[in-house]
Amino acid sequence: MPKIAVLTSGGDSPGMNAAVTSVARNAAYYGLELIGIKRGYNGLLGLQDGAEDDIFTMNLDTVLDLADLPGTYLRTARCEQFHDPKVREEAARNLKKLDVVGLVVIGGDGSFRGAQSLCQLGIPCIGIPGTIDNDLPYTEMTLGYDTAVNCDVEAVRAIRATSRSHDRPAVVEVMGRNCGDIALSTAEATGSEIVLVPEMPWSVEEVAVRLKKLVDSGNTRATIVVAEGAYASMKPFDAYSYLSPFGKQVFQGQSMNANLLASTLKHMTHAEARATVIGYTQRGCQPTARDCTFAFEAGNMAVVLLKNGIGNQVIGTRNNRTFHTSIDTALCETRNFKESLYNLINSL
Ligand code: ADP
Repeated sequence: MPKIAVLTSGGDSPGMNAAVTSVARNAAYYGLELIGIKRGYNGLLGLQDGAEDDIFTMNLDTVLDLADLPGTYLRTARCEQFHDPKVREEAARNLKKLDVVGLVVIGGDGSFRGAQSLCQLGIPCIGIPGTIDNDLPYTEMTLGYDTAVNCDVEAVRAIRATSRSHDRPAVVEVMGRNCGDIALSTAEATGSEIVLVPEMPWSVEEVAVRLKKLVDSGNTRATIVVAEGAYASMKPFDAYSYLSPFGKQVFQGQSMNANLLASTLKHMTHAEARATVIGYTQRGCQPTARDCTFAFEAGNMAVVLLKNGIGNQVIGTRNNRTFHTSIDTALCETRNFKESLYNLINSL
């Protein structure tokens, strides 16, 4: 029986288990044995001390029980050693020793670079974009993005209810690493009045002016959705002119955070701004139907490609259809940030 393998790598994202289940069901249908590899590329190298066997034959019955669960049953991890070409050669040798004819890698762009290297070493690989960040330009959506946005929308709606009750503005920090898509969609779907993203420069002073204008015109419960990566595009903020207790201190990049932003805005506008950081609930949520349908189709496409001896491909969505393209092409594409939507949200 020909063998294929599957691993999840990088940050976890809702829908990873659904994708592994789809790979397992399709492998069984096409008469392929499926090897599960735990903890990303570490599992290929036996790098995890004391871990149970990280390479194992996957049992379809076990996998079927996991399909709806968030997180990843295969575990996930980063593997620094994989940047070393000699380590990657060892991984390719290990896969060849196991007679694996193809590998499905579920992860983000870093994981895809690892897969690209394995392809060059003779292991056909297929990438499924598993990251909540939606930071892969070749695809309209990544697995977990829709779930993360829905989680944030639910959270912001709840926060806005309390904001309304108490006439308090809210600062809500969402995830997305260097990509502002989660923040943008969350702000759009909840009617939030201000959104801050890493793709666009902004300043605390401008946000304070906009917030003050909203409050003065009667909107005392405005919401500021800030992407976790947005502090990197913030203009340095000299707190001294506004917050003398802080002394002579210029906030820049990671020295700013949601709590500090809320308390700074409170001092500058006299509105009782409060901060919430949504955090890991965005990654550990039950996957939405949209993410699960993508997982179902992506798992099928991955197995069909490998069964036909085709590797070096990644799966994505375009015009709402699941498609595949080469890893090399996918990794060369550049992102097209929705600047007009950003401007619209921040001006209405
Ligand atoms: P993501 O896949 O979510 O983007 P990372 O960027 O942390 O997450 O990458 C996950 C793993 O992929 C890394 O820990 C490493 O094992 C592997 N990886 C990342 N970049 C490369 C690269 N340039 N070459 C080979 N492997 C890489």
